Amino acid sequence: MSSHSIRTAVVSAVVALTAVTATGCTATASAAPDGASRETAHWSYEGATGPEHWASLSEDYAACGTGRAQSPVDLDEDAAVETGAPVAVHYRPVTAEVVNNGHTVQANVSAGSTLVVDGTTYRLRQFHFHLPSEHTEDGEHAAMEMHFVHEDDQGDVAVLAVLMKAAKGHSAFTDLWKHLPAEEGGQSHLTRPIDLTRFLPRDRGQYRYEGSLTTPPCTEGVKWTVLDHEVRVTPGQVAAYRELFPRSNRPLQPRNGRELDHVDR
Ligand SMILES: [Zn+2]
Repeated sequence: MSSHSIRTAVVSAVVALTAVTATGCTATASAAPDGASRETAHWSYEGATGPEHWASLSEDYAACGTGRAQSPVDLDEDAAVETGAPVAVHYRPVTAEVVNNGHTVQANVSAGSTLVVDGTTYRLRQFHFHLPSEHTEDGEHAAMEMHFVHEDDQGDVAVLAVLMKAAKGHSAFTDLWKHLPAEEGGQSHLTRPIDLTRFLPRDRGQYRYEGSLTTPPCTEGVKWTVLDHEVRVTPGQVAAYRELFPRSNRPLQPRNGRELDHVDR
């Protein structure tokens, strides 16, 4: 048994109890109909286990191939409808356990932060990163994308996405980047509370649509909010993340007539 599979087995047991920590990017197990936990298939971002093959790797991943409301999508300004209310972000300072899970760097955060979407409260569980961005704005990728993953009382998921632009100057990510675990399975603990609103742009104009997890099992019914202003990350920080994960974005998925809303603020 490799160290990887030992780690996966441990993670599986935890995931069965706290499924939301596995959403977003990092599902390593799923609940079978009998309630037992079982491991799911290895997946990646290239080659034989890459995105075009996800649906064939496991029957649990079928939605990755047959789903009609998948993420990410292009945020096409011309196709967007100006409608709806903005989501409300209520983030408190959090402590976090930062994990390199082989797909992303994910910070599992302490309780108390919420996102309110159309009157429903979702609790923040974790945030993590993709390189380059998964969503595009009018066809253009940002250097990176950050996903804040939330869950409501029914287990439904809402994700707040922030596009990250590479530019020199002040970066809100400097402290966090000192804690990126370099090895798969590595982790570090942020014991000093961090203010998550520092990772958000001041302008909260936003795109909203219904989509899916962007990683296996590609579960649909996810409420997406993508802020249309970017936050800054330095070119050096992008390069450091690329050293860990050279590429971690699922290709764009067809919108299939889904409505894309835009809310100005
Ligand atoms: Zn993600």
